[in-house]
Amino acid sequence: MSTHIQSITGRHWKTGDWISIEFNQKKILCVSSAAHGSRNAPWLAPSLLDLQVNGYGGVDFQKQSLTEASLMKAVEALNRDGCPRFFLTLTTSDWPSILSKLKRIKVWRDNNPTLRECIAGWHVEGPFLSEEPGYCGAHDTSVMEDPSPEKINMLKEITQTDPTLLTLAPERPGSMESILHASQLGMRVSLGHTNADTACLSAAASAGATGFTHLGNACPQKLDRHDNLIFRVLDSESWMTGIIPDGVHVSPALFRILHNLIPLNQIYYTTDAMSAAGAAPGRYTIGNIEVEVGDDQVVRQPGQSNFAGSALKPSEGITRAARMLHTNWRDVWNHFSEIPSRWMGLPTGLHAGAPSNFSIVGGDVTVGLSIQVNKPA
Ligand SMILES: [Zn+2]
Repeated sequence: MSTHIQSITGRHWKTGDWISIEFNQKKILCVSSAAHGSRNAPWLAPSLLDLQVNGYGGVDFQKQSLTEASLMKAVEALNRDGCPRFFLTLTTSDWPSILSKLKRIKVWRDNNPTLRECIAGWHVEGPFLSEEPGYCGAHDTSVMEDPSPEKINMLKEITQTDPTLLTLAPERPGSMESILHASQLGMRVSLGHTNADTACLSAAASAGATGFTHLGNACPQKLDRHDNLIFRVLDSESWMTGIIPDGVHVSPALFRILHNLIPLNQIYYTTDAMSAAGAAPGRYTIGNIEVEVGDDQVVRQPGQSNFAGSALKPSEGITRAARMLHTNWRDVWNHFSEIPSRWMGLPTGLHAGAPSNFSIVGGDVTVGLSIQVNKPA
């Protein structure tokens, strides 16, 4: 590994101050104040982290036929779109096949420095989800099952000490002991694809669940105005809440309302991207499900109204979030960088010791933001 020291000068994303960053291949070595540079010098910001990526750049992570080479292609496309770190996400298939896919990809990651750097952790979303129509989303209900501490052990045996996020529906029998066991093993447990009542949400929080996965989605299009899941979640504990910032999965009005209701340091953004993200509109797969992606980047199952993941690029997510909140990209950046990183216990920020794959940002949200991943030579 090269110990070559490089540096870059630009403006600090939070303070606007001029800074100079010295870094090597892995880490930031030193951040110091610098003299004012030119008007079009870049902004420097912590690297983005996406906690739910199901596929990217035409590559479907759910396929048994996934290869290391195609995974590298997806990673390259994510980097090109401004995102150097993500949680590789496996969605519902039968439990043994989730474990076997995970095992295979984990071996590739352990032996490939690029994959190790880019796949920051694992997100398992299924098969412990709600089978109720609407709440199940595009997941196959026929292979869903109840969680158990034994199944959590099987997962832990594969993921070892890697950061791991588990999304489950707490109303399923066996959930509470599984949540407790998973959190004691160091996993983060997030609730999602659920129609849990208030008592069940509270019990899940007491057992150790801390997150809520893509709030506003994975529920029926029509909800009871007196009592529905979104009200119950917002009225219960303080969850680390994931939101898909594409303006479609969550309407701009609800997006703004959520930012007014939830403490801002408890909101993280995720693309929930599937294979069509970073690729052209057309027909794609999510495992065995065939989907179509329109020019609007919305992913639909042919003939159905529900969404099945998104084709959103992380860089575009920042732009759309800022537009919806009528604000600057600098005000929303945290939701896609430091906030999810801290929740997952990953190093982040712009200071000595933080990762050197930070972001170099130019342009603005009205004309298009350019987000480049710093690539040490
Ligand atoms: Zn989902």
